[in-house]
Amino acid sequence: MSKSIAIIGLGAMGTALAKTLIDAGNTATVWNRTSARADALVARGARRAATVTEAIAASDILILCLTDYAAVETTLADVGPMLAGKTVINLTNGRPDEVRAVAARLEAYGARYLDGGIMATPPMIGTPDAFILCSGSADAFEKTREQLAAFGQSHYLGEDPVLAAVSDLALLSAMYGLFGGYLHATALAGSVGFTAKQFLPLVEPWLAAMMTALPDYAERIDSGDHGRDVMSNLSMQSVAITNIVAASRSLGIDPAFMEPIERLAKKRLAAGFGGDEASGLIEAMRGK
Ligand code: NDP
Repeated sequence: MSKSIAIIGLGAMGTALAKTLIDAGNTATVWNRTSARADALVARGARRAATVTEAIAASDILILCLTDYAAVETTLADVGPMLAGKTVINLTNGRPDEVRAVAARLEAYGARYLDGGIMATPPMIGTPDAFILCSGSADAFEKTREQLAAFGQSHYLGEDPVLAAVSDLALLSAMYGLFGGYLHATALAGSVGFTAKQFLPLVEPWLAAMMTALPDYAERIDSGDHGRDVMSNLSMQSVAITNIVAASRSLGIDPAFMEPIERLAKKRLAAGFGGDEASGLIEAMRGK
């Protein structure tokens, strides 16, 4: 069933969300601090709101997609009482403390609050590859299932509003680890003359092959047993890790990406876990 929806924030992501909702037949009212960014959406059928107040008044569901929670606070500063009975879906990247504060404030005004993390780039929105993590009001999730489904798959993680934000940050951490590792590797290979395109046929299948280790790592992490059936012990791996850092320096590459891994490996070795798999680095991350 089509519902009236306000989309607040029309950057790259907010625009993709708004387009998808309009194309799915929803009535969309759009607002952006820089009004001109709404032009293309208005041409597509959206209503332009002159103010946030106007956008909220016209809608049952409010979708926020802004740079950060400071922008969310600024944007909603004067509209609290208008939110009574509305469903607010906040798809802005944030930290758990920020999520709790905004959730508590909006719920105190009588809003149903759903926090979300978008695991997709703007062109992926509306494709089966996009997924959205949600947590907070179960009622809000049920009421907006159809709208969320237009964006991609949606996963409801539970009533605690911070679950989606922390899971989002965790997945992004995995992504930055991958990209950071790739960039460091490409810089290192580049220091002896390989272009990124020449290096790609080596690094891409290598990363894909290493991904297959994750189920075994997950098993070890959950059991806390990093010492059974070890194939690549940390003492052996730490030689390579230290060599990567030293070689990077000597070849003029900043080893900043690898230094924390070296630090964690040394901590784990000093604690006597050199015979374990490298999955045990998680214990050092956890402060053990
Ligand atoms: P953009 O930089 O393209 O847009 C930022 C938006 O926030 C603009 O609408 C901007 O308004 C608005 N904004 C910033 N500060 C304020 C403020 N103080 N008051 C009012 N509005 C403000 O970012 P994206 O659209 O790409 O990202 C938006 C959210 O989506 C982020 O939380 C991001 O983490 C998330 N996301 C983005 C992805 C991506 O690949 N782009 C992927 C997954 C999630 P104005 O136009 O006036 O500057």
